[in-house]
Amino acid sequence: MKELGDHVTLVAVSKTKPPEAIKELYQLGHRDFGENYVQELLEKQPILPTDIRWHYIGHLQSNKVKYIAPFVHLIHGVDSLKLLTEINKQAKKNNRIIDCLLQVHIAQEETKFGLDAQELESIMNSFPGLKLDNVRIRGLMGMASLTDNEETIRTEFRSLKMLFDKYFQHELQTLTADSQLQYGILSMGMSSDYQLAIAEGSNLVRIGSLLFGSRV
Ligand SMILES: *Cc1c(COP(=O)(O)O)cnc(C)c1O
Repeated sequence: MKELGDHVTLVAVSKTKPPEAIKELYQLGHRDFGENYVQELLEKQPILPTDIRWHYIGHLQSNKVKYIAPFVHLIHGVDSLKLLTEINKQAKKNNRIIDCLLQVHIAQEETKFGLDAQELESIMNSFPGLKLDNVRIRGLMGMASLTDNEETIRTEFRSLKMLFDKYFQHELQTLTADSQLQYGILSMGMSSDYQLAIAEGSNLVRIGSLLFGSRV
């Protein structure tokens, strides 16, 4: 099994955790942090160092995009063209290009957000013609079922990796020189399943409780 290495970005999921906990990791040199709630992110961002790369990993409502558009580094959970269009609009207002991941529904549970393969196909096909110049679709994000069954989790991650390979294998050239992420991004894996995710090809894991302790 592959270990965390240079080829895997670790996003420390700091939701519900106080700024002090974030600072502790920051002082060790960590810069990528993930939050799920706009309100919470807006409280933390102004009081923490400006070179933190904030990942928005939760479900994002279109009417809240404007609040995070000035500073967000990567939006993981994009699941509609409407949302992508709004991100583009707010990015433009801020004179930025915002990197986004499309969220794909790979789990068996009904409750998890995300696109199915057909909806993904439709967005990927229509995107180039829409001239949304202030967003970049950098890759895919997904969450496996909450289960102890490793085979189920592997199968779900594998299905996401296949979609990733289909669309992003050759999309490596349009990056800025200062980008930390020199490849298409496949965001999959959390505390309980990150090893399986990496073994199945993830290059970004989102880890909360394993780093910060369990949430109440
Ligand atoms: C909370 C959360 C995580 C981190 O979960 P842990 O099990 O604490 O590692 C990762 N991804 C998303 C989308 C989350 O909401």
